Amino acid sequence: MKIVMVGTGYVGLVSGLCFAEFGYETVCIDKNQSRLNSIISGKSPFYEPGLDNLLDKHINSTKRLILSSDLAKEIKKADVIFITVGTPSRRLDDEADLSSIFDVVKEIAVNISKYSVIVTKSTVPVGTTRKIKEIILGQISQDQFDVVANPEFLREGSAINDFMRPDRVVIGTDSKKSEKIMKEVYRPLYLLDTPIVSTTIETAEIIKYASNSFLATKISFINEVADLCEVVGADVQDVAKAMGLDKRIGSKFLNSGPGFGGSCFPKDVKAFFATAKKLGVDLSIVNSVNESNQKRPLKIASRISQYYRNDLKNTTLTILGLSFKPNTDDIRDSTSLIIARKLLEKGVRLKSYDPQAMHNVKNEMNEILICKNAYEACEQSSGLIIATEWNEFRALDLRRVKSLLVRPVIFDLHNIYNPSEISILGIEYFGIGK
Ligand code: NAD
Repeated sequence: MKIVMVGTGYVGLVSGLCFAEFGYETVCIDKNQSRLNSIISGKSPFYEPGLDNLLDKHINSTKRLILSSDLAKEIKKADVIFITVGTPSRRLDDEADLSSIFDVVKEIAVNISKYSVIVTKSTVPVGTTRKIKEIILGQISQDQFDVVANPEFLREGSAINDFMRPDRVVIGTDSKKSEKIMKEVYRPLYLLDTPIVSTTIETAEIIKYASNSFLATKISFINEVADLCEVVGADVQDVAKAMGLDKRIGSKFLNSGPGFGGSCFPKDVKAFFATAKKLGVDLSIVNSVNESNQKRPLKIASRISQYYRNDLKNTTLTILGLSFKPNTDDIRDSTSLIIARKLLEKGVRLKSYDPQAMHNVKNEMNEILICKNAYEACEQSSGLIIATEWNEFRALDLRRVKSLLVRPVIFDLHNIYNPSEISILGIEYFGIGK
């Protein structure tokens, strides 16, 4: 089995390495040569736990992973071609920008030389995979290829484990031949009793958007409940805990905070709504989730500002955690950065530290003063905002933090500390939904 991955981002590189781990010869293609050079030298272009070890193993030892920029050459030999390029939000209409997908497809269409299965692993709106089939049919006959929708569910920060031990694998196709090949690709997981959901192309595409939108809905729901808790003096963490004990609800994705960010949920929620709208279906719940989530970090920034009586000019504040969640350096649509931008607009001097994302922040926001660690970021600051719940922020030496701050106040946006333990130290504490 010869596998080609097109796009070496979080999904393409992780999946490609995991396929190499399964034992398949895998070629990872990217048009970004500096990204390829970094990978070839054994250094992942982004932070993902465990990735550098797998790179070393499969580039240098097994040699089952090959990196290339020559899509035309590599697809000629491929049995299965996975498309894993980005599908970001289109600013104008919130739909998914599929230009990278179609660039790749056009190149595939003119270069295929033997039967291959062409797989959309990128998150694509319903109808996309069938459109891909039409484009390719313009160049070659149906017996030379099949298309499959095989959405990916891995999470940044635990991507390798998620790929190797997924809750399910979804295979959407209308051809028995390609279904058989896809089941063969995932056979190592099948042996671990991973559920394989075989379905139609359209169903597979919708499964991905419906799953992400549902998880996003849980987050926005508990965030709105948190607002109510604050007004009446209830505790959202206890509410969420008791709700989560109900097996019909479940405890995951019920942690209130500054809203969801990242490269997937915000764009997928918007694209799900926009796609349905174009098809004459009003996914009003999904739209409300998007609207609620967009307001969320702005509301939090405004609450922080109100604490300082909206007089923040030349006030120094500390923000810990800028990646959109812990264990990644990805800052795409990070709520921490949205809050940071709002505070900067109000004249705040912002000191910051993140365990992995500082190099990305430097490129995007040079107004933030980047510090070597959490304590340096707290020096001479009038307040500490814990914006991303990295483990290393869960066990700060709070006495030291207090001694460094000129005004001892903590805004704990993920409720990682116990308010009473902080108050005993003489630090003012603001959590979420308490
Ligand atoms: P990414 O932005 O990290 O990587 C995309 C890669 O594709 C880049 O390296 C880029 O250079 C390359 N690329 C773009 N156009 C190309 C072309 N024409 N030829 C070759 N390479 C090209 O993207 P990602 O985060 O890995 O996401 C990829 C897809 O997977 C998206 O649709 C996303 O929604 C979906 N997804 C992402 C995650 C995640 O956690 N990041 C999880 C599940 C699904």
